[in-house]
Amino acid sequence: MSVRDWQPEPGLGLTGPPLRLHPMIVGYEPIRESISVLGGDPALFLLEPVTVAAVVYENGWLLVDAGFNVDVVRDPAERIEYFNWESYTALLPPGDPLVEQVAALGLAWETLRGCVISHVHADHTGGLRLLGPEVPVLMQRAEYEFAAGIPTLEEKHVVVPGDYLRDDLSIVLLDGDTQLAPGVTALDTRGHTPGHQSVMVELPERTVVLACDAADLWRNIGDQLPCGTVMRPEDEPFALTAVQRLYELAQRPGVEVWPGHDPEWAPWREKTVS
Ligand SMILES: [Zn+2]
Repeated sequence: MSVRDWQPEPGLGLTGPPLRLHPMIVGYEPIRESISVLGGDPALFLLEPVTVAAVVYENGWLLVDAGFNVDVVRDPAERIEYFNWESYTALLPPGDPLVEQVAALGLAWETLRGCVISHVHADHTGGLRLLGPEVPVLMQRAEYEFAAGIPTLEEKHVVVPGDYLRDDLSIVLLDGDTQLAPGVTALDTRGHTPGHQSVMVELPERTVVLACDAADLWRNIGDQLPCGTVMRPEDEPFALTAVQRLYELAQRPGVEVWPGHDPEWAPWREKTVS
C-alpha cells in the first residue's frame, strides 16, 4: 500500500468548477436513535440510508464515501466477522448498488480522479474494493493513523480493515481543511471518529456540504446535537464542535448542509443536483 501526503500541485487534475452532484443511496441500516443523536432513545430504531455522492467535472469525477463492501456483507463467514453487532445489520438492495448507479449515471471508473472517505466505518469504505492504485483515496491523517492500528486493538470497532488496508490502494493524507479540487473542500469535522471529514461542494446554483457522519440527522445540525457515539472518548468535545460548525455553515445564504444518514432528507433521493 502506498501512503503519501497531499500535494496541492498537481492535486487531482480536475479542472473546475464542479458541474453537478449525484446523490446515491447504496443500502440501509437500522440505527438506534441514541447512536445518531446524543441523548436519543436507545429503544427507538431509525432505518437510515447509507449514502454516497459523485461530484462531476468536465474532465472526471470524485466519489465521496463508498458504502458497504457487498462481498463482505454477502459472505456468511465475513458477515459474522465484521457485521455481528447486536441489533445492527447491513441491508443491501439486489446486485451492486454503487456499481449499478454509477453505470446508470454514465460515469466511467476510468475517469474517477479520487475517492474521499469521510471516516473508516464499515458503511463508508466498502466501495474501495473497486479502486486500483491509480485512484487517490483521500483521508485525514488522524483518521488513517488511528484506523491503521485498529486490527491491533483489543476493543472491536465497526470497520472492515481489509477495505482500507489493502496493498494496492493509494492513500493520500490530509491535515485539516483542504481544497481538493476547484469548488470541493474537505472540512475537518472530527469527533465521531478521530479524523472525520465532511465535504463542501460549490455547485453552479448552490453549495452543498456533505456532513457525512458528523451529523447523521438534520436534528444534529439544526439543534446542534452531536452524534451519540465517538470512537475515542477524548473526541467527544470535537463531536459538538463539528455540529456547531455545520450549523454555522447552514446559516449562510445558498448553503445546504446534508446529514449523512437522515431517512427524512429528501435530497438523497434526487438523481442530480446542480
Ligand atoms: Zn455511516
